[in-house]
Amino acid sequence: MDLGIAGKWAIVCASSKGLGLGCARALAAEGVNLVMNGRTAETLEAAADAVRRDFGVDVRAVAADITTEAGRAEVLAQCAAPDILVTNAGGPPPGLWSEWEREDFIRALDANMLSPIAMMKAVLPGMMTRKWGRVVNITSQSVKSPIAVLGLSNAARAGLTGYVAGTARQVAGAGVVVNNLLPGIHATDRAVSLDTGVAQARGISLEEARTARSATIPAGRYGSTAEFGATCAFMCSQFAGYMVGQNILLDGGAINATL
Ligand code: NAP
Repeated sequence: MDLGIAGKWAIVCASSKGLGLGCARALAAEGVNLVMNGRTAETLEAAADAVRRDFGVDVRAVAADITTEAGRAEVLAQCAAPDILVTNAGGPPPGLWSEWEREDFIRALDANMLSPIAMMKAVLPGMMTRKWGRVVNITSQSVKSPIAVLGLSNAARAGLTGYVAGTARQVAGAGVVVNNLLPGIHATDRAVSLDTGVAQARGISLEEARTARSATIPAGRYGSTAEFGATCAFMCSQFAGYMVGQNILLDGGAINATL
């Protein structure tokens, strides 16, 4: 299926590894040129080189912290008028509701709510003028079903979800669609780090923690970054123009809900 977006430009935030990289690679496979981003220059350059080599698209790699104003300015300087924006950043650390202080919430809000909002605010006006745009925010299944130890994530992403619900409907008339993509557990470094925490807390091995978690998922496994990226690419396609303000859950059936 040709998604009809070859030759367009996409900014994919936090895309040197994991889910962001999955999205970047799936867009590149459709002929989309990319601005890729991550904080660690070496990892980012390697990921960008692989995308150039595998798909032959233009890739501008920006090593910067997307949760800072300066970092976002560096990214936007490489492509002020993208057709597609995928927002993403690292997730907040796990913890306990009684331990988090104001500063912890501010950090989480900055990373997982205010940074994506700032990126959208920067690119939406141009997309609206050009009458075409696609925004996908990588959030989490935690907006549908809270993950107790990830209260900072639950809170920040719920805020972003509320913002998108209203904003998506304000820009849809200009041909710009904004949606959220909600990962359940996927096989990335983030999953390794969360599973390591569980393994340490329960005195079991990492493999045992992974097996126990897989058993709670109807699909019986973790999602892959390629599956995640393919869904993102569809949400950025010509065919997604009537999908407005939606929260698309990719969780292998883990959340037991009818809707
Ligand atoms: P990951 O494998 O740890 O990859 C994170 C990527 O983001 C890396 O490329 C990292 O590179 C980059 N990054 C992190 N912080 C950044 C920052 N401040 N500025 C720029 N780049 C940054 O994580 P992931 O599993 O892909 O997760 C992506 C997002 O989805 C996270 O918010 C996570 O909480 C959420 N999520 C993941 C899962 C899952 O199962 N994997 C489930 C639900 C939600 P550098 O470290 O070099 O910057």
